[in-house]
Amino acid sequence: MWIEKTNIEINNDLNQKENYWKYIALFILIFCIELFGIKIFGVNHRFTMGELTGPYTWQEVTNLIPKILITSLLLTVCAFLLINYLDKYEKKKLDHIFLCNKCNKRALDPTQYTCECGGTFKNIKLMKWIGE
Ligand SMILES: [Zn+2]
Repeated sequence: MWIEKTNIEINNDLNQKENYWKYIALFILIFCIELFGIKIFGVNHRFTMGELTGPYTWQEVTNLIPKILITSLLLTVCAFLLINYLDKYEKKKLDHIFLCNKCNKRALDPTQYTCECGGTFKNIKLMKWIGE
């Protein structure tokens, strides 16, 4: 069943910090994929009107590290923006969902906040699930 969160829990929700470590991990992952991808498969220069080159030697890969860093960073920023956008979109949907604090009846944007059972409709973000 759903029960109301305590004030402490609501405050904890509000103060939740973005976990930046996952983006740092993602950045390192993309960097490694690019690094080894270039080492093993080389770079396709078709887009720059050049020839397909590679596989590269480690010396050549090392020379490309600044470029690999920049593209990894850009990809990580794109992923960050996309994830944040989807996250906000999901949270916005929750703004419209209300639950009765007594019978757990669900209502979308209720016009009155008192349920038939005498309970009160609370936004789902102020409630938590604790099992049966
Ligand atoms: Zn109710």
